[in-house]
Amino acid sequence: MQEPKPSCLLLVISGPGGVGKDTVIERLKGLDPNLRSSVSFTTRARREYELDDVHYTFVTVPRFHELIGRDELLEHAFVNGHYYGTSKTRVEKLQRAGHDVILTIEVRGANQVREKRPDGIFFFITPPSMEDLMVRRHQRGAESEEEMEQRQRLAEWEISHAEFYDHVVVNDDVDRVAREILEIVNRERRLRRPGSDSR
Ligand code: 5GP
Repeated sequence: MQEPKPSCLLLVISGPGGVGKDTVIERLKGLDPNLRSSVSFTTRARREYELDDVHYTFVTVPRFHELIGRDELLEHAFVNGHYYGTSKTRVEKLQRAGHDVILTIEVRGANQVREKRPDGIFFFITPPSMEDLMVRRHQRGAESEEEMEQRQRLAEWEISHAEFYDHVVVNDDVDRVAREILEIVNRERRLRRPGSDSR
């Protein structure tokens, strides 16, 4: 079988819930179609707007344990009562096809990837302030006071790990952040595959 291209990038993006990671990543992929997200497995319930195998592959807990047992996961973590994990096969397949791959994963999963893939480029997206994060999550609604507090504590814990990331970017403006990340990605492309057209 064809090997993954060693020069393909693996971008790991973490940040607290509500910071706007998904919007930044959609913007980033819009700016650069070579970038692809790897679809993760999760045991959490599908939200109404989510599609199976697009946003996540939704699986049962026994199936998730089977994936762990078969060494199918590059990393996995238990978050807010549910399992989440990155498929090794999916990442390899995308890289074999020549794509730079984005993983949007939380801090513990990112730590595992750091061990296994030291070539990864690790980004942490922070809010301009904790107040800003609270406001954004309030606007999103759908959270009880208790959930809000639990998520706020988790957010503080996650932000305390930002120092272990290669790049910390403040999400004060989605377009600006997407461009900042893309500049770093293009710099890495030039370093790792000189002569390539990195736009
Ligand atoms: P949500 O349930 O809101 O979609 O995601 C909850 C958290 O799990 C987010 O921080 C998200 O980035 C993270 N997450 C999503 N997929 C994965 C994964 O494959 N592995 C890990 N470790 N975290 C993930």
